[in-house]
Amino acid sequence: MLFCPQCRKEYEVGNRLCPDCRVSLVRNLPPDPNQLALFEMIEIYKIPDEITGMALSSFLADAGVQVSVQPMEASFYGGTLNTLLGYWGKLLVSAEHETKARKQLEIFLKEFHGK
Ligand SMILES: [Zn+2]
Repeated sequence: MLFCPQCRKEYEVGNRLCPDCRVSLVRNLPPDPNQLALFEMIEIYKIPDEITGMALSSFLADAGVQVSVQPMEASFYGGTLNTLLGYWGKLLVSAEHETKARKQLEIFLKEFHGK
């Protein structure tokens, strides 16, 4: 399959140009930020601090889980959101990886926090 980098339509191999956009087709589409945002991400954990967030995200990524750490650092009525909420950020994983991610999270919390 070939793809148009502009309109992101798929074409059979053999086409060279997108008939609509007149641009060369490519083998691999660059990630589309709009489409990535559409991936359903599920919050599975409230991260207490930044260090845990970083360690956890690389731990899960190593296990093949698509993971996103969302810090709650935005200013919010004079304070920051994280002090208001009582945690540093959210751990989001893609919906299809949720079960695996929860298992990995359990392992992580046992190993690193002795719980
Ligand atoms: Zn096109």
